[in-house]
Amino acid sequence: MKTIECNLPDSLYEALIARMQADKTTCDHVVSMALSQCLGKPLHTLFQVSTSAALVEGLYQGAVEVSRLLRHGDFGLGTFIDLDGEMVVIDGCCYQVLPDGKVVQAREDWLIPYAVVTRFNAEFSRRSSSLENFGELVSVCDALRASENLFYAFRIDGSFSWVKTRVMKPVSKGIGLKAAASAQQEFLLEEQEGTLVGLWSPGFAGAFSVPGYHFHFLSKDRKRGGHVLDCKTAEVAIGGCAMHEMHVSLPETEEFLKADLTRDPGEALMHAERNHDS
Ligand SMILES: [Zn+2]
Repeated sequence: MKTIECNLPDSLYEALIARMQADKTTCDHVVSMALSQCLGKPLHTLFQVSTSAALVEGLYQGAVEVSRLLRHGDFGLGTFIDLDGEMVVIDGCCYQVLPDGKVVQAREDWLIPYAVVTRFNAEFSRRSSSLENFGELVSVCDALRASENLFYAFRIDGSFSWVKTRVMKPVSKGIGLKAAASAQQEFLLEEQEGTLVGLWSPGFAGAFSVPGYHFHFLSKDRKRGGHVLDCKTAEVAIGGCAMHEMHVSLPETEEFLKADLTRDPGEALMHAERNHDS
């Protein structure tokens, strides 16, 4: 967050005060909204490529270039063509965690089949220490959320005693997500400094999002990462924001246009995204 000071014409100043009173909101909020519209930098908006149902049905072909994704957000997660690894978008850079657990920066012209990004701007934050497991982390995030019906982004920076991650291996055409997840690689990353990049989606969004929490990890040195199955934190800073606008970019590929996406992806997503040990 930055603080600015500026001079305004009287008429704009009066209109600003009137809007703050009418909407019962702060100067920061009105000015941020106005600048976001004027400068074409949407706030509190999720940009999603494709749908979770398409992923469950095995539609892993590229739909949107990394460069376009990064124009819509600087923070988020996703996957790559044929489920080749895990995507972490952080501070405006897009990283690919490879199936061997190593990390490379994604090229701007790569096409991606599924991702969700936003412009991260923490609206609330707190510090925590020694969260024993994923369940405790989730409870802290739950307490920070004001609603069950908006989308939320969470950014958790700090030290982790360990992070258990999984990284998908590329699969051949026609293999659904549930079968693909059974061939995943798991890693136990110990004594890590890094960031959890997370999204929380409401249950009603289950047909196109991953309901509940979805976290990807990236180490501070940008060398290790993956989809988070479990973790134990040391000292961490948790920041988050609510998102009440969503833009979904649907693929125009032949396979997407012809696919049967009427099945509920919920059960397959639960299987593919959660920790199977607990
Ligand atoms: Zn994931």
